[in-house]
Amino acid sequence: MSPLTVVWAYRRTGKFAFHVLTGALETDARAAGVPIVFANGVEAVVAALREALAAGHRVLVGWSFYSPDFALLAAELQQVKARIDAARVLHVAGGVHASAEPEATLRAGFDLVATGDGERLVQDLVHALRTGGEPRAIAGIGWLEAGVLRRNGRAARTALDEFPPFGPAHDRFGPIEITRGCVYACRFCQTPYFAGASFRHRSVANVRHWARYLVGRGFRDFRFLTPTSMSYGATGPEPDLAAVEALLAAVREEIGPQRRLWFGTFPSEVRPEHVTDASLRLLRRWVTNKALILGGQSGSDRVLAASARGHDAATVERATALCLEYGFVPHVDFLFGMPGEAPADVEATLALMDRLVARGAKVHGHTFLPLPGTPFRKAAPGVLTPAMRQRLLAMASKGQLYGQWQQQEVTARELAERR
Ligand code: SF4
Repeated sequence: MSPLTVVWAYRRTGKFAFHVLTGALETDARAAGVPIVFANGVEAVVAALREALAAGHRVLVGWSFYSPDFALLAAELQQVKARIDAARVLHVAGGVHASAEPEATLRAGFDLVATGDGERLVQDLVHALRTGGEPRAIAGIGWLEAGVLRRNGRAARTALDEFPPFGPAHDRFGPIEITRGCVYACRFCQTPYFAGASFRHRSVANVRHWARYLVGRGFRDFRFLTPTSMSYGATGPEPDLAAVEALLAAVREEIGPQRRLWFGTFPSEVRPEHVTDASLRLLRRWVTNKALILGGQSGSDRVLAASARGHDAATVERATALCLEYGFVPHVDFLFGMPGEAPADVEATLALMDRLVARGAKVHGHTFLPLPGTPFRKAAPGVLTPAMRQRLLAMASKGQLYGQWQQQEVTARELAERR
């Protein structure tokens, strides 16, 4: 076995992905004894590389980023390589952007890209590097050969139960991922194109196991990661409320009445058509949160249909009213500057937002990003008209609107410029 160190180029935005990969390595006997370093920023990565190389190790440097962070991380890679350019160092980029844009990612200087689910892939990669195997033989790996993209397929989709939801042996925790992939195909969203267009659920028994573990480690807050909270256990768009209740009841039983169970709120959300008397009764019985995050996106039925959201604006309004009736404060997500938005669509969105906040909801604003890998990747970046910006700033100043919508307008432009 050749000595190997794994260095995660560890950033706030991608950190939970690294925790999952860490957990995958922790559970693979073939990776036993491999040091894992969490290196935040260029200086930390360089320091980790120096130490590992001085000890005679090969080094796998893992990078994972979302499309908006690609330029920043590519610049950091260049800074690292300018200081340490050793043949024994392999820079591998994974995650949503590397999967959507493997060639551009490789041209930015990464040695390999890893596309698809990372758990099995990182196990096999570490094993190959320790035993003199060929990393390019691993499913999901891509590379440049004489300037041309070569790929060895996509990594096999994994069952969530097969891996821990985080890296407990390294004290790296995060929300428990209960569902991966999404049956909806909202045209602005990378999730179904990256993680698959079907739901893969972690079993109740497995979630219960990890909830119990976290209780033992002294945790008081329990959060879950899913593209659509009320879809737990479902195979299609129709929620399976019995499955959701079985999950929440099991977690509550493990954590007791005093610890906090967050569901349908950060870091996950609820689709508006899943808000019903039955689903809200269920949530009220089991969860701690008083806020629910609803995906609204637009007040224009035309824009909602064009983005294949699968619900109309009236559903958003109805869901908001029902949440309030049941004592929840809805935080409704909106996307500004959607493709094809005409002045009447903008006005419909602003009017809906006004009606929602008048009822007591909050609005979480985003600006549309033409994300790689999505059907809208070639659309014009989201732009706010001066009149819209004025209305949004007025809402923000009253505490009715929050979010990164101003920064995202800049990011949207940068994404479009890089295509
Ligand atoms: S926006 Fe939500 S519901 Fe739509 S595809 Fe993405 S994850 Fe699924």
